[in-house]
Amino acid sequence: MSAHQLVAPTSIRLNPFKDTNAFSGQKEVPWCVSGRYLSERPVFTKDPLFHAGAYYVQEASSMFVHHLLKEVLPEKQGLRVLDLCAAPGGKSTLIASLLDETSLFVSNEVIRTRASILEENMTRWGYMNTWVTCNDPKDFKKLKGYFDVVVVDAPCSGSGLFRKDKRAINEWSVANVDLCAERQKRILADVWPSIKEDGIIVYSTCSYSEKENEGMLDWVADEFQIEPLSVSINQEWGIETTISQNGIKGYRFFPHLVKGEGFFISMFKKKGVTGAAKLPKLKSKQDKKIKEQAAHLLNIQDWLCLQHKDEYVAIHADHEVDYLMLSQSLYLRRVGVSLGVPSKKEWLPAHDIALSIHRSERLPTVDVDKEQALKFLKKEEMTLPDLPKGWYVVCYAGQGLGWIKALGNRVNNYLPKHWRIRMSIDDEDWA
Ligand code: SAM
Repeated sequence: MSAHQLVAPTSIRLNPFKDTNAFSGQKEVPWCVSGRYLSERPVFTKDPLFHAGAYYVQEASSMFVHHLLKEVLPEKQGLRVLDLCAAPGGKSTLIASLLDETSLFVSNEVIRTRASILEENMTRWGYMNTWVTCNDPKDFKKLKGYFDVVVVDAPCSGSGLFRKDKRAINEWSVANVDLCAERQKRILADVWPSIKEDGIIVYSTCSYSEKENEGMLDWVADEFQIEPLSVSINQEWGIETTISQNGIKGYRFFPHLVKGEGFFISMFKKKGVTGAAKLPKLKSKQDKKIKEQAAHLLNIQDWLCLQHKDEYVAIHADHEVDYLMLSQSLYLRRVGVSLGVPSKKEWLPAHDIALSIHRSERLPTVDVDKEQALKFLKKEEMTLPDLPKGWYVVCYAGQGLGWIKALGNRVNNYLPKHWRIRMSIDDEDWA
């Protein structure tokens, strides 16, 4: 109770593929090398590096996913990983950073409005192997034995957030804990067929209730065949280890013991035989001609160009079957990197390219200061005198923010309208 009276610590996690020294000297989160505690909470919306996806604002306890997965995925390649309840993208941005580019990462959110926030955050993070879907857990049933790793950060009663979000206190009730526990069972049962034999499941909540945590582990152990997994932890971190009645380990985070919010997490392995989904016959949808036209945009070798909905996208060459397979049962909101579309005279580049870690260094860029960067992000008029005509990626402190087109006497701002900063920004914010 007294910990709840204190101010919640502020922490961020750095994008390992978007170098910034903006947080050098800040204290590291002990269980996540890219996590940093900040001494005060800035207005992140006013920081262009936040919009560039150079870091993600995430409370520290949740970053323990890094410690769990780092112990079980040492340098594995070509994995298929699912984050089932992913919006707004805290765990997804973290997991994506742990995977190699031949691994496919599906970041899913069932609620449409939340899926669009997730899509925006994953686009900022900038990885081609991260695809965003908007599906109910039961839609994954058909993908039998498909995923090597599934993360279920389940919707829960939220008691672990009482300090950070006072509304969570009013919304909490015993009846809601019961309701959440039933929903968590449904979610786990629905996604279960899509996990491979020996596949890994990470289950977490931000609830203190045993029913949603240890109780859920016991329910899983009763319903399915599993093998408990555990990791070593440093006692000084203040994390409590708990064991469910069926002997499955969980890790509990309490705000009076750790520098972070309330959280529960556990990891186990699926045992028992799982059928495998039939792979679709490979009917190539590649567009080699368009690939040639768009090749100047990216700095990678092994990629394919596909037409997805009304635009062209680049995916890793290993993921063609996955595209065919997933598009049969899922609503794919974001696939690979959007490239844009060809027009008569030129290539109209997608916003994705500007934020992508795979953007070609040969593309023209224009470096701007904080004032111009914030004007760009507010979609206000920018003054960039003497800029020769053409397309440019606007960069702040080395990180891409979006596209402009210089027309000689003026500059057109191609930041998507719904991405613009709506908050008012004063002169002093430019410093
Ligand atoms: N993993 C996210 C992160 O780290 O940023 C937070 C996820 S939040 C705890 C749980 C998510 O589950 C919410 O985005 C919520 O919309 C979604 N959700 C709600 N009902 C669901 C259901 N029946 N099946 C799957 N997901 C659901």
